[in-house]
Amino acid sequence: MSNQKVEELVVLGLGANLGNPLRMLELVLGEIARLPQTVLAAQSPFYRTAPVDSSGPDYVNAVCAVKTRLAPEALLDELQRLENVHGRVRPAGVRNAPRTLDLDILLWGDEVICTRRLEVPHPRMHERAFVLRPLLDIFPQCSIPGKGRAADWLEKTLDQRISKIVS
Ligand code: ATP
Ligand code: MG
Ligand code: MG
Repeated sequence: MSNQKVEELVVLGLGANLGNPLRMLELVLGEIARLPQTVLAAQSPFYRTAPVDSSGPDYVNAVCAVKTRLAPEALLDELQRLENVHGRVRPAGVRNAPRTLDLDILLWGDEVICTRRLEVPHPRMHERAFVLRPLLDIFPQCSIPGKGRAADWLEKTLDQRISKIVS
């Protein structure tokens, strides 16, 4: 019998609203697919969205699912490294500033993670159409631990402007 832990399906949220956001997300999906001990399992369509909890130009958002053997904070390290490589700056004192790239861990299977650096499920994901729409594209039955069905939450976000980017 193997004592290796079964890999959870991990869902990541991608967003950008500075530079060329669509090209950025396409590029970074390739980089996520090449992370160590990680396989890209699914990716959503891209969406153009009005800033929510942020400011500046419209965002492009998507979500993807990966299988990984990395520990949660090791994956966060890799994602923050990619944000930095792509010019993410964090202006002092400004929360949720416009950004070239934001990579968040939304779900880690059914697990609940709460450390100094990491909270999963992402604590605001259920309020955000830019997360819920692409999430439901790849996981129509998705349930958020502690919150319930993602589809039920999406109904509460109808005031948030979002449109699918058709290529
Ligand atoms: P929001 O969290 O509202 O989406 P944001 O993505 O702009 O805002 P960041 O500046 O990217 O916020 O991250 C701030 C901190 O959030 C990070 O330093 C990280 O340690 C912490 N964090 C906590 N939970 C998560 C998570 N699930 N995914 C990514 N970062 C997280
Ligand atoms: Mg974020
Ligand atoms: Mg973030």
